[in-house]
Amino acid sequence: MSIKYRKPKGTRDLMLLEMERWQWCESKWREVLARFGYGEIRTPSFESTSLFTRSVGSGTDIVDKEMYTFESKGGESFSLRPEATASVVRAYLENGLTRQPGTVKFYYMGPMFRYDRPQAGRYRQFHQVGVEAIGSSSPVLDAEVVRCATSLFEAVGADDLTVQVNSIGCENCRPSYVDDLRSWAQGKKDEFCDTCVSRVESNPLRLFDCKNEGCQKLLADFKPISEALCDDCKDHHTQFCDTLDALSVRYENDDSLVRGLDYYTRTTFEISAGSGLRQSALCGGGRYDYLIGQCGGPTTPAVGFSAGVERIVRHLYNQEYDHQRSRQSIVDVFVVCMNRQAQQFALQHADKLRSVCRVEIDTTDRGVKAQMKAAVSRESSVVLIVGDDEINNNQFQMKNMETGQQLPVSNEDLIAAVQEVLAK
Ligand code: AMP
Repeated sequence: MSIKYRKPKGTRDLMLLEMERWQWCESKWREVLARFGYGEIRTPSFESTSLFTRSVGSGTDIVDKEMYTFESKGGESFSLRPEATASVVRAYLENGLTRQPGTVKFYYMGPMFRYDRPQAGRYRQFHQVGVEAIGSSSPVLDAEVVRCATSLFEAVGADDLTVQVNSIGCENCRPSYVDDLRSWAQGKKDEFCDTCVSRVESNPLRLFDCKNEGCQKLLADFKPISEALCDDCKDHHTQFCDTLDALSVRYENDDSLVRGLDYYTRTTFEISAGSGLRQSALCGGGRYDYLIGQCGGPTTPAVGFSAGVERIVRHLYNQEYDHQRSRQSIVDVFVVCMNRQAQQFALQHADKLRSVCRVEIDTTDRGVKAQMKAAVSRESSVVLIVGDDEINNNQFQMKNMETGQQLPVSNEDLIAAVQEVLAK
């Protein structure tokens, strides 16, 4: 066979065993998110390009290098969403939710798109589960959002995690810190890597995101942002940390955690697997009190996070999937059919079993032996066998796969007989 089409680089086919694991995780997460008061939101996969350039910010990797941008036939510039916060904020404003009393809480699950260099755990289409809590400036909400993230991990049994938190200040205290950082770094341009040299002008805070050890060593000499926070930001951070302590959430303060998006203010946090290396980041989030105002709405405080589903599933099972070796889904009842008439009879009568259990009717026209083998590999508890005799007698041969016992069962008794075996 010559394969004519291949998936685009950096994308994956999710199926079989891996898909079952995803669905299991997703159902656990939906339960947790509902308990924290979040309702689901599904926004379009693409939005006006300017929504992302204004919110995520130019000077960030996402906007400068990683967006899939295209012109529509009508001449508008659209981009596949690289993240979901901007879309949720757009939807919040466009749908008049500013008039809702209290905190508006949304969660999302879905694909995001970034033109990044693909490698294990980094894809061009990947999925995020995330939340946005809009309408409260309380540091208690920041802590609740972190607790919600750790609950998502707990719900699927993900452990060995590190929570890192920081505050990156507000409009009052951050600009002078950024100015100081820029002037200091301008004097050391020869010592920073090329990427950092361009960051010094465009977005100096992002120097802290650099993976280059030399750059990190240089930065260690500069005063940490925690020393530059105004009193309100310090208070906010203290209350946030105190609440995490009260919730027994374990965390570390990390001065260099600035996050790669422009819209964060005050609280930022990241959850990573084990070692705490940046490339093992599973979840990131923070407060964004100015974004809604920047998008044309009334100034409204908000906080949220997003977690990478591929990375979480990889962390949980510690493996990449070999789909050649994963099986099709498990069924309760497998129906072996001797011929086409038997297939038709089976569909007509075994179909009613689907109101109580999972049923696979074999329509491959292959031999009985091969069909029985398939029944075993699908882990079915009951095999129903149909040939001409069964059709004539309006019945099935029913085999209990655990005991090996086989007996005829009339059509009328089918559901009760199957249920009896499955109940054991
Ligand atoms: P960010 O929106 O960059 O803060 O990312 C939030 C989370 O999404 C990260 O912690 C990762 O788990 C995941 N993530 C980000 N980019 C990618 C990617 N290219 N491939 C897979 N997962 C990603």
